[in-house]
Amino acid sequence: MSASQIPPATAVPGDDVPTLLVKIFGKDRPGITAGLFDTLAAYSVDVVDIEQVVTRGRIVLCVLVTAPAPARDAIGSSEGDLRATVHSWADSLHLQAEIISGRGDNRPRGSGRSHVTVLGHPLTAESAAAIAAAITSTGGNIDRIFRLAKYPVTAVEFAVSGVATDALRSRLAPEAAELGVDVAVVAAGLQRRAQRLVVMDVDSTLIQDEVIELFAAHAGCEAEVAEVTAAAMRGELDFEQSLHARVALLAGLDASVVETVRKEVRLTPGARTLVRTLKRLGYQVGVVSGGFTQVTDALREELGLDFAAANTLEIVDGKLTGRVTGDIVDRAGKARLLRSFAEQAGVPLDQTVAIGDGANDLDMLNAAGLGVAFNAKPVVREAAHTAVNVPFLDTVLYLLGITREEVEAADTHIG
Ligand SMILES: [Mg+2]
Repeated sequence: MSASQIPPATAVPGDDVPTLLVKIFGKDRPGITAGLFDTLAAYSVDVVDIEQVVTRGRIVLCVLVTAPAPARDAIGSSEGDLRATVHSWADSLHLQAEIISGRGDNRPRGSGRSHVTVLGHPLTAESAAAIAAAITSTGGNIDRIFRLAKYPVTAVEFAVSGVATDALRSRLAPEAAELGVDVAVVAAGLQRRAQRLVVMDVDSTLIQDEVIELFAAHAGCEAEVAEVTAAAMRGELDFEQSLHARVALLAGLDASVVETVRKEVRLTPGARTLVRTLKRLGYQVGVVSGGFTQVTDALREELGLDFAAANTLEIVDGKLTGRVTGDIVDRAGKARLLRSFAEQAGVPLDQTVAIGDGANDLDMLNAAGLGVAFNAKPVVREAAHTAVNVPFLDTVLYLLGITREEVEAADTHIG
């Protein structure tokens, strides 16, 4: 057959081509899908689309096929035969069947496609209703919904089309805050799967502690450190001033305390799972901290991080001097380091993810392709692209569209 004789593709029929939507519902058991296609095969129809979902042992199987050619003898139609055969096959298996005549394929999806991830702990029907209504109010259409995870939170993803990602995000952010659920809106497309870089803050993000407070406890100056921190929060000191003031309180502390503090650091629940899964998926992972390299270097080693940057406590003659050495990692420094890590990793800035909890992280969160406020103060939460307010760091994986099954499958296969 020459090229000119190849018939036009019929797998995607034009709007005028008659098609049949065959929907099967009932108790799932092996062989249903094969059985339905076996039944349809007798009518020489082409498969246009298939969707199958099994929820708590019940199958919903939808198959869109081209309608069979009319019977030649004009006594009965092939479509009528097909309908009768499918119904009798379904009856024999105690399944419900519905066959709807129509024309053409599914309506094309609108432009402007996004993934909306919703994390609930629990996810209430009220929240699901409000999120769905908010999506609809933007003119967006929900094309698909599926569950990403049931642990440690319920995570579901809505595929939405017909509305710009930014507009959808602006509409859903206040809704999520009001409902007390976490909602992330990211643009769909290949970019979502492109290799990425994840950069995290350390204190109260990767770890549960504030490292300066751990040092202060050993120096017996917790109250003084807390006072400086509070002054900084009130805006009386900037980060650099407060860092110097707090580190000065540690002067004279024995350097052996560094090792003790390293051991006291508690990782945030889900931190290991997050890093391990990202690494297996080929992501590069880094940390930037207004804390100290004496701790972040140990975390880099322990977790196999690609990048780490922080301030360095000066140690002379086995004692902390109360000073830091080198460039100060502050709010602007964190954003600068994100850019530098991205460049070293060969990842465009819009394919980076930044995670942090403090005002110090805001520039970094805004510079990243996706900024995630993790159990953050309201000012940070409101300024970031998205917020996670459950205390499990691995839930960030769901914002990236990675399912719990994928996380667990990776653990089983690689060990
Ligand atoms: Mg922090």
